[in-house]
Amino acid sequence: MEWIDLRSDTVTEPTPEMREAMANAELGDDVYGEDPTVNHLQELSAQMLGKEAALFVPSGTMGNLAAILAHCARGDEIIIGDRSHTYLYEAGGVSALGGIHTFVVRNRDNGMVPYDEIEAAIRVDNDHFPISRLVCLENTHNRCGGSVLSVDYTQEVGRITKEHGLGMHIDGARIFNAAIALDVSPAELVASADSVTFCLSKGLCAPAGSVICGEKAFIQKTHRARKMLGGGMRQAGVLAAAGVVALESMVDRLREDHNKARLLAETLVELPGISLDYETPATNMIFLKLDDGAPISGEDLVRRFADRGIRINATPAGQMRLVIHYWVDDEALAKVTDAFKELFLRA
Ligand SMILES: *Cc1c(COP(=O)(O)O)cnc(C)c1O
Repeated sequence: MEWIDLRSDTVTEPTPEMREAMANAELGDDVYGEDPTVNHLQELSAQMLGKEAALFVPSGTMGNLAAILAHCARGDEIIIGDRSHTYLYEAGGVSALGGIHTFVVRNRDNGMVPYDEIEAAIRVDNDHFPISRLVCLENTHNRCGGSVLSVDYTQEVGRITKEHGLGMHIDGARIFNAAIALDVSPAELVASADSVTFCLSKGLCAPAGSVICGEKAFIQKTHRARKMLGGGMRQAGVLAAAGVVALESMVDRLREDHNKARLLAETLVELPGISLDYETPATNMIFLKLDDGAPISGEDLVRRFADRGIRINATPAGQMRLVIHYWVDDEALAKVTDAFKELFLRA
């Protein structure tokens, strides 16, 4: 059975064009800097994000960690949102491996942290305190409904960090989704950031890999951090080849995912027993929960959907995130819509 998989956009397998590019990729030893396909991916990434240089890394988690290690020394502090991926889902790597302290600020539902709360988190110079070094933003914001940080917001946070001599890092795992949703270039969106990490392996469909972008001297530091973390890969052009296809042909189509997410949300909002966290999804994610009187439990829903060839995740409390991606075509979307209607309108 061919699954319709809504658990994440990380489940996306490479497209036929990617598999062909991978098979034919020109290769070399990337630890020597000699893989032409990796070098091409890095140049293309830097250009699209408007930065001087870029580094290919195995995962987004390593990208964020290597970038933060390049910004900070042991005992330094980063200011980071309480719902951010780096804070919640990266195994505490910045503390465990970097000896870096976290000052946690509260993300609002739109992914933002108010300016005054960021400013208030910046320490004065005093021997008692860690040294504030970096502010981390996330765009789109995964745990905040796939919400989008605007150009204005990002610029203002950049202004604040500069004024206080801090750096700014953007976890842009889905930065292209954000740029498409705002109708701006990704370069404009990250112009005020000192570094940005984005994922090739989510909505862009590449099988693995992320890229860190920033100034040349900064990227050199991330290079050392990547080596230390065990992320130096040899003929990595096999993976980078898919990344090049991702950047060249998979970015603009992300708007189709956003449109489908909106369409599905329009159906769900009408169904009894379902509440949406965000009535209009900003990008490719729908967050919903089952009401107390819902005709079906979260566990049953997962099972009944599986019977129909649809994979979803749900917490025991009936909360779930549905993610739309390249492999959810119109037919699949219709199947999902019908399944929801069938299970929720029966009662
Ligand atoms: C997926 C993701 C990452 C990185 O995840 P990996 O699985 O390590 O590639 C980082 N930040 C956000 C917001 C993500 O969604």
